[in-house]
Amino acid sequence: MTDVIELVGVSRAYPGGVTALRNVNLTIGCGELAGIVGPSGSGKSTLLNLIGTLDRPSTGTVRIDGHDVLALTDREVSALRSHRIGFVFQQFHLAAGVPVLDNVADGLLYAGVPRRERRRRATNALARVGLDHRLDHRPHELSGGERQRVAFARAVVGEPALLLADEPTGNLDSAAGAAVLALLHELHAQGTTVAVITHDQDIAASLPRQIMLRDGRITRDSGAPLAVRP
Ligand code: ADP
Repeated sequence: MTDVIELVGVSRAYPGGVTALRNVNLTIGCGELAGIVGPSGSGKSTLLNLIGTLDRPSTGTVRIDGHDVLALTDREVSALRSHRIGFVFQQFHLAAGVPVLDNVADGLLYAGVPRRERRRRATNALARVGLDHRLDHRPHELSGGERQRVAFARAVVGEPALLLADEPTGNLDSAAGAAVLALLHELHAQGTTVAVITHDQDIAASLPRQIMLRDGRITRDSGAPLAVRP
């Protein structure tokens, strides 16, 4: 079984003397759904940035989809990020005034996919999140929960090796949050590897694997389910 995320002895110190992560070892395998949980200041964003290849470690190795991030050029890291990682954030980051279908289809622009094919794949991705009846709507015509589902469709339209969600229910009421959480489980059941960053213990409890972060260290890891262990 391949590992999608592999961190070995990873530390990240910021200028000014804050060490946000200390000797973190973490492996997340293909097909897992894992929550990275911790209070504010525990290092979640720092970890997200490293896993998302938006930042590099001070020491240690970060391997994403088999690639050692420190060994790649900036250009190669950008290519890895755009082809292999789908991001969802607390703020939905949809293009205002742009129809839902194009918001999702534009997620494939980097890949040089022809327009017709982009729109076909976007329609399929929107069907996966249950929004294929909203293709022509603009983001402001959707509820918060629907907007987040569009963001998920855009994140998975390129079939990334990893879906990385940062507090995806943080801006939603509890009903919409529950629907988005159900969607995460559904995407996982369809084979997507998902890492969710959250400070919400209830969300974490619903996930098959929980990784607890405190003061820059992993203090508990409920471990990969046996079925996906190498
Ligand atoms: P979380 O996402 O769990 O709130 P962060 O990763 O944002 O945690 O922060 C972990 C620690 O690193 C905190 O003490 C924070 O103040 C510090 N930190 C985060 N980003 C920076 C930065 N760019 N420069 C200096 N310190 C930072």
